[in-house]
Amino acid sequence: MDAAADDDRPDRPDRPVTVKCLVWDLDNTLWQGTLLEDGEVALADEVRKVVIELDSRGILQSVSSKNDHDHAWARLEALGVAEYFVLPEIGWGTKSEAVRRIADRLNFAHSTIAFIDDQPAELAEVAFHLPEVRGYPAERVLALPDLPEFTPATSTVDSRRRRAMYQAGFRREAERAEATGPDEEFLRSLGMVMRVGRATDEELSRVEELTLRTSQMNATGVHYSDARLRSLLADPHHEVLVVTLTDRFGPHGAVGVLLLARHPGMWHLKLLATSCRVVSYGAGAALLNWLADAAAGAGAHLVADFRATDRNRMMEIAYRFAGFDDHSCACAAALTGGAESRAAAANGLQRLHLVPEPRPAPTTMRREAPVLFT
Ligand SMILES: [Zn+2]
Repeated sequence: MDAAADDDRPDRPDRPVTVKCLVWDLDNTLWQGTLLEDGEVALADEVRKVVIELDSRGILQSVSSKNDHDHAWARLEALGVAEYFVLPEIGWGTKSEAVRRIADRLNFAHSTIAFIDDQPAELAEVAFHLPEVRGYPAERVLALPDLPEFTPATSTVDSRRRRAMYQAGFRREAERAEATGPDEEFLRSLGMVMRVGRATDEELSRVEELTLRTSQMNATGVHYSDARLRSLLADPHHEVLVVTLTDRFGPHGAVGVLLLARHPGMWHLKLLATSCRVVSYGAGAALLNWLADAAAGAGAHLVADFRATDRNRMMEIAYRFAGFDDHSCACAAALTGGAESRAAAANGLQRLHLVPEPRPAPTTMRREAPVLFT
């Protein structure tokens, strides 16, 4: 799984697709002047403000420039803005190929990529080969933050540090690619810490973002609204949990959400969504093992809602691997008979069952989690 493979849907059906990465030309677009001809170039304060503002909204920014790479990058560093640009493409190839490589590396749909350049010929070249990429002439640079496609519906903790998360991700993947020896050894070297915590008001917006974005690893394909989850925060029979993962490279951000309901002798896992970008780090398995261990400690069986969609096969594998099966058990009686349950069954909802036993802590990460339903 590459970064954010599941991350290409519009935030809301009635909104324009939000730009997730803006690719900048440099000469006479980001800065005034032509580096190779003028030697000196200037970055206007207003343009610098646009870069910083888009960054704070969680919009990634990159570069496609026909220049000498080292020369141009040194200039960006001297101007104090190099850190804002990920996966810069500075060289002599075509811009459409550069933009395509950036989109591929980020695993973003072309419709979520924007490109800004002062040269009509470059805009036309990109538009011809990548018709879904949004092109903007350089004279519109100061207007970008006011456009709806550059105004994400929600701003969350994770969107404000999205660039840092991607930059950490690139360093992490590079190191993983170079690592020799067993993968478990590499995973141990990361110093991963998984934190499971009760959702707070602020985190609920991250939860909603996560359930919207993680269609591949959403167990039911059901979207729980912010309001619905918020109403459960104070309910002693429900736990709304957010999972975050960090390691020595930096934060992965919020990577999972669980909605759990307590019944006599049984915990009902109504929602489990995990970000597919952390599956290869063992986060999903660690989470299910933690839950099984906690339920075993409380003497409760586990029942997990699962609905097969065309995108969540990996989630079913995670459940089966953790020991969930299709056996019917008396503990699920509390869930049958109601109108909600009949509607769920008609909707193709399966209920997977586990009689949990204590499980050992993971060897590849440290785990911090609350005692549930206390
Ligand atoms: Zn049972």
